[in-house]
Parts: sequence; C-alpha cells; structure tokens
Amino acid sequence: MKDAHLHLTDKRINAEKVIASAKLKGVEGFLSCSAKPDEWQELKALTKSHPEVVSFFGVHPWYVNDISSSWQDELESLLKENPKAGVGEIGLDKAKPDYDKQKEVFIRQLALAVKYRRITTIHSVKAHEDLLTILKQYKKSLPPLVLHSYSAPLSFIKPLEELGCYFSISPFILKKSEKAAAEILLSIPKDRLLIETDAPDGLKSPELLSGFVMLLANIMGWGYIKLENTVTANIERLLK
Ligand SMILES: [Zn+2]
Repeated sequence: MKDAHLHLTDKRINAEKVIASAKLKGVEGFLSCSAKPDEWQELKALTKSHPEVVSFFGVHPWYVNDISSSWQDELESLLKENPKAGVGEIGLDKAKPDYDKQKEVFIRQLALAVKYRRITTIHSVKAHEDLLTILKQYKKSLPPLVLHSYSAPLSFIKPLEELGCYFSISPFILKKSEKAAAEILLSIPKDRLLIETDAPDGLKSPELLSGFVMLLANIMGWGYIKLENTVTANIERLLK
C-alpha cells in the first residue's frame, strides 16, 4: 500500500525514522508533498536515497508570501531535473488570506504541471467553484490531478471526475458524521479513490495508514482487502 499524500520534509517529521517504521507496517510508497521552496532540496535528496518516495514540488496556498522572486525558475528546473516528480501541494484556500496572490501562484504552478505533464496534488478549501473554472481553461491538456483531503460537497465530484481528478481521503473526513463520510466515500467513483495520512497533520505518521484504511472500510461497509486492493490499483495507475 502507498500513502497518497504526506509531508516527509515537514520539520516535525524525522523522515528516515518514519519511512523505516511505516515500511515495517506494510507501507511501500510515499507521495511526499512540499509546502514551500525551503523544503525542495531536502525533498530532492530524500527521493534520491529512497526510491519509494515520489516527490512533489510546490508552493502551498498558505505560504504564497514566503517565496522569493526566483521560485518559479527554481521549480521549473527541479521538474526538468526530476522527470518522476509531481507538482504539489498547490491550491486555493478561501479560509486563508491573500486569495488573489494564491490564485496567481496556483495558476503559474498549474501551467508548469501542464507543460511538463506532471501529476498535481491540489489543496482546495471553499474554493471549488474557482478551481473548476481554472481547471476547465486547461481542459484538453491537464495532467492527472489529485484532490487531496477531499470532503467537498457531493456536487463537485462529477465535474472534477470529468477533468480527470482522483479524490484522496484524509483523516479529516472523520470530523464528519459517519453517515456524511460514508456518503462522500461511496459517491467517489471506485476507480478514482485514494487514501492518505496527510502526516504529520492528518495522522502523526504513515505507519498508521492501514488502521485508517480499516476504519474507512468499516464506514463504507466494504471489506479491508477490497478497499486496499482498490486504492492500490488506483495509485499504481496514477503513477504509471
Ligand atoms: Zn498536505
């Protein structure tokens, strides 16, 4: 099983330790996102020493004011140098300040993801209308997209699915009632469902992934194996 979204270069995580303990619990792959440029070199090095880590380079919408004027060139060279790397975590967050700047930085990064055809991990909070509008402008050339920590209204699932999005479920879904969580989980097309720990914010460590999958399987009324096989097939297709 692979963790579809986490932050191994977050300062609260000891990446070496966390990877080793998660592997002992059966986690074989890590899609590791960055939130700002000061994590990029560490993430690049981590991917070199750990082929099971897929790196995602990006500027998170919360940190659009923590970037220097050269961030875009730096991001583009990292993508060129690392043909397997994705773009992320990028996005829009209406609950946070500087929304116009967020939009500008998001669009610039999306354009790079389109240019180099890279898997892109997207954070969207209260911004799904705008996100759809922007994504539709790139409709014909979009790379595979992952909507991370998905818990938006059900009405967005269909239009996002049509744009090629995967939907990754994080532990934040457990803040909803079991009924509401089940409704979201069962409304996502089976071939687009992913599961993430969003460590260290969602769960403390990716070693807790299988416990979370078990919990979701119960909520969905599925067996653990069926859910594990489903998300594994999806993530392998995404990474191909
Ligand atoms: Zn994240």
